[in-house]
Amino acid sequence: MYYNSILETIGNTPLVKLNDLADDLPGTILVKVEYFNPGQSVKDRIGLKMIEDAEEQGLIEPGGTIIEGTSGNTGMGLALAAVIKGYDCIFTTTDKQSKSKIDLLRALGAEVKVCPTDVEPDDPNSYYSVAQRLSEEIPNSYYPNQYDNPSNTQAHYETTGPEIWEQTEGNVTHYVAGMGTGGTVSGTSKYLKEQNDDIKTIGIDSDGSVYKKYFDTGEFDKDEIHPYLTEGIGEDIIPDNIDMDLLDEVIQVNDKDAFLTTRALASQEGLFVGGSCGAAVHGALEYARNNSFDEDDVMVIILPDSGTRYVSKIFNDEWMEEHGFLDS
Ligand code: PMP
Repeated sequence: MYYNSILETIGNTPLVKLNDLADDLPGTILVKVEYFNPGQSVKDRIGLKMIEDAEEQGLIEPGGTIIEGTSGNTGMGLALAAVIKGYDCIFTTTDKQSKSKIDLLRALGAEVKVCPTDVEPDDPNSYYSVAQRLSEEIPNSYYPNQYDNPSNTQAHYETTGPEIWEQTEGNVTHYVAGMGTGGTVSGTSKYLKEQNDDIKTIGIDSDGSVYKKYFDTGEFDKDEIHPYLTEGIGEDIIPDNIDMDLLDEVIQVNDKDAFLTTRALASQEGLFVGGSCGAAVHGALEYARNNSFDEDDVMVIILPDSGTRYVSKIFNDEWMEEHGFLDS
């Protein structure tokens, strides 16, 4: 038995039970481990889907160029699909990103343009403006824009949602995912609630982001915005891919709680995952403890990526101490 290309190995990631970290709770807490994807994150699902939908809609022709502002998991997902399908990739990123992330994208043949961090989004040199400009200048190029592209949500509606439903044999009662572009939480929640409207969806936001207040009050409050270090979740905009009507609760998690839980996932569960995974598990356990989780309940938490990208940060004691997350 073999796969015709690496792209066929995307999805069908395992569900794993949390033992030690959830031993005070009745019921079953499961995590869906997305680092089993070939690009080591949940974003392989949307990289492939955004490109395939663009092909179907005639937005990109053979030999074309994919352009996106990303340094992270989405770049990896797009680059993987582009290698197999014969497209070029140009990614714009900021100079605060680590060199290893940029090297990783270059290893897959992508061109990476490094832009200054300290400029407004509408500055012509921002990574956002440069991506936009290149997509206008380069013929047969395609700018996926994961924030507003409906293929992002649709990828999760078609894959992540059905996988969770089948893997739990329809017994899932709670679904928990971090909120970045909103694609994962919204697309999966839509599918699960169509199967069983009683399923509760909990979105995980980062302290310093606008989502929580927007969910609670409907107000977009710029005063909520402050810098934070958890990568991949929280925003200072409301992208089209977030659908608050599909969420039952939004929980904010701060960097310290997120990172200490990330380390506990490695040391107590053998799950070597990234910082947004720690945030999701911290928020999920808080929700379960405060909402009379019972023995028939089955919670599924998405773990978006791997710990390898965070070795010099979350898994480095000096870095953790410098930021006040660990006592020296
Ligand atoms: N965690 C990580 C590490 C991510 O890269 C992302 C994507 N931004 C998310 C969580 C959130 O996923 P989504 O964009 O689908 O909301």
